[in-house]
Amino acid sequence: MVLKNMNNKEHSSTKSMTLTASNYYSNDANWQYRSKSQYWSFLQCEARALAELKGEYQPNCSLKPLLFGNYLHSYFESKKAHQEFLDEHEKELYKYGNKEKGIKKDFKLADKCIQALANDAGFKALYKGDKEKIVTGNIDGIEWMGKIDCLDLKHKRFYDLKTVDSIHKKHWNNELHEYTDFVIASGYDTQMAIYQELIYQTFGIKCDPLIVAVSKQDTPDKAIIKFGERDLQEALNDVRMKQEHINKVINGEVAPTGCGTCEYCRMNKSLMDMQIETAGQIRLE
Ligand SMILES: [Zn+2]
Repeated sequence: MVLKNMNNKEHSSTKSMTLTASNYYSNDANWQYRSKSQYWSFLQCEARALAELKGEYQPNCSLKPLLFGNYLHSYFESKKAHQEFLDEHEKELYKYGNKEKGIKKDFKLADKCIQALANDAGFKALYKGDKEKIVTGNIDGIEWMGKIDCLDLKHKRFYDLKTVDSIHKKHWNNELHEYTDFVIASGYDTQMAIYQELIYQTFGIKCDPLIVAVSKQDTPDKAIIKFGERDLQEALNDVRMKQEHINKVINGEVAPTGCGTCEYCRMNKSLMDMQIETAGQIRLE
């Protein structure tokens, strides 16, 4: 038996917390509930994801894409939410951190994305419902959380806004050995399947997921993306199959495996314990 790591044990035994807008992204929430982004992160590299959860590693990545997404999300949440977001991130959003100097170029593009949707009659007609709705549920004994961008129970639909480099860009998938679109490459089918289940458990209504995608191109592209029933079922089955192992890693019952190529793995690499690679057979990404 592998001894439970104290740190993990302390967290996993904490009593169930109620999720709110202010604690949804907290570390405590991440210990108690699985989320799609956390699940996805564990699928990429368990060692890195666990180190992140324990606060031992912070990815060295730009906050810009996150801010870009939140800029857009807050706009479509409410006027108040958008203003609060602008006030809270004055430093990052405006030139020299000063509102009077005008907004940075990147976020001018976010404004373009917003306008591309806000002025679209189809979007205006469709995108109605409860905004930023937090849902939770239990999938085969494991607690999950999700945040629905726009939940329209009346029409049995929910929407998720995605900003993307290009809607039509192809992404190589190493498992499938083929190119896929951004939806599959980012696991958004998995996310929609989980959200559909959590909404069903919370409200007893099975809703169809729709992704509203807008591209971060100078002239933004846009699309509404639907999902096949079977694809959603398969995506959820995949979660059911893989979640138990991830939970064991989080609880300290199973040691995490490193992917060997991400920044975290590269930081902790030693040629002492490396397998020697064979020319022509090095794993490709
Ligand atoms: Zn890794």
